[in-house]
Amino acid sequence: MRNAGVALTDQSAARRAPPALRVLAYHAIADTGGMGRFEPYGVSPIEFRRQIGALQRLRWHFVSAGEVVAYLGGAPLPRRPVLLTFDDCYGSVLEHALPVLEARGIPAVAFAVTNRTGRTNEWCGPTTPQLPLLDREGLRRLAAGGVEIGGHSRTHPVLPRLSDADLADEIRGCRDDLIGMGLGPARLFAYPFGAFDERVRAAVAAAGFAAAFTTKPRLIRGGTAGYTLGRIEILRRDTGWQFHWKVSVARAWPGMRQLPRAGAARLRRMRSGGRAADERAAGEPEA
Ligand SMILES: [Zn+2]
Repeated sequence: MRNAGVALTDQSAARRAPPALRVLAYHAIADTGGMGRFEPYGVSPIEFRRQIGALQRLRWHFVSAGEVVAYLGGAPLPRRPVLLTFDDCYGSVLEHALPVLEARGIPAVAFAVTNRTGRTNEWCGPTTPQLPLLDREGLRRLAAGGVEIGGHSRTHPVLPRLSDADLADEIRGCRDDLIGMGLGPARLFAYPFGAFDERVRAAVAAAGFAAAFTTKPRLIRGGTAGYTLGRIEILRRDTGWQFHWKVSVARAWPGMRQLPRAGAARLRRMRSGGRAADERAAGEPEA
């Protein structure tokens, strides 16, 4: 009986715990089937609309950049909070994502490569299909539609490989560029390729960004170090229950064979409209 009492106390504490934030990371909102190395990085417009609708039906609460910055400083968030982000600012985000978001009043963040605006994803290399990136006017239209523009460097290099001077140019220069475009000062940064180290983190903080995102999938809790925030990458293959599994447990998709039994049970409860993930999150993984 004594043990049962302890367990109940633990459960009560878990219920009072602030909700964990999930951040989803999209790239292009386009059908990238047959696009070789770029193929994984597109979610089709139809699938994107489906995913947003499903999240709404499951009562996820879309939060803004401002709410996230406040949360990191200790402010509360609504239940089941999720932030949408888009890396690189592809033209398809304006064309296909913004109408979905605007119609539903959903905020988001898009990370711009400021010396590549109006060009293409050249950093992927010549053998990768090239997709158009938004120019300054396109970024302004995104911002006017409720999408905050964050920094993603000037040219999308692997930041830890750069000299101190080049690092400052890529990060501080990116923030200056956004201010020059009338889009700043930017509060959020996303590491190109998800690559960072201590020196890169320090440079992002010194440039004035309030927080920065990796591509490592994990939940974010208030008080988390603000320059290593996890995100869940949503890729072309993440449809149906694979999408819901990733959002629910904030881990990379392990494949059907490795899917832990507990994860499958959690997914079934979630999809059947059971209790919110955060309400039963005492042992929720933080990958
Ligand atoms: Zn990128």
